[in-house]
Amino acid sequence: MPYCLQCGKPATHTIPQGDSRERLVCSSCGYIHYENPKMICGALAIHQGKILLCRRAIEPRYGYWTLPAGFMEIGETMAEGAKRETWEEADGTAINLKLYTLFDLPQWGQIHAIYLANLQDGAFGVGSESLECGLFYPDEIDMENLAFETVRQTIERYLADKERLEKLGKDSEDFNNYPLHDVCLGNT
Ligand SMILES: [Zn+2]
Repeated sequence: MPYCLQCGKPATHTIPQGDSRERLVCSSCGYIHYENPKMICGALAIHQGKILLCRRAIEPRYGYWTLPAGFMEIGETMAEGAKRETWEEADGTAINLKLYTLFDLPQWGQIHAIYLANLQDGAFGVGSESLECGLFYPDEIDMENLAFETVRQTIERYLADKERLEKLGKDSEDFNNYPLHDVCLGNT
């Protein structure tokens, strides 16, 4: 039995008047518990051709490698969230952030926003949510065993864009040369 977050009395799933979706509604005080998608921010932080990865010390996907990323907090911007996650998970400072991939995950109720960034001075440690962290050349990354599909796609797209820019003779270290990838994973 779910309980009301406001008054603690029992709440039930019902469609409120004037609404079109089922919500958890308190039968005592009438409070409607709206649930909306959550925002996840992260960074693909680069240093001298290598990518910063963290091995997760938390569920889900414990032990798998990921880009530093996590839930956005109230009061910060998406870029600030990406910087904070890089610090919390890898003790590294992300600079020159540029929004790169934006994933709609309607079935998960999530949006993932991942920034390209430089890892300041190439310095990092191991954050409390990581088992280990490291800088990896692309061919050192096990692309089939990353923690999340959005992480895999972001790295793949980055490597493809980088190669395309280099073929065109453009500066692949200037993030302004990279497009924004707006991707929907799963059905709406
Ligand atoms: Zn209530």
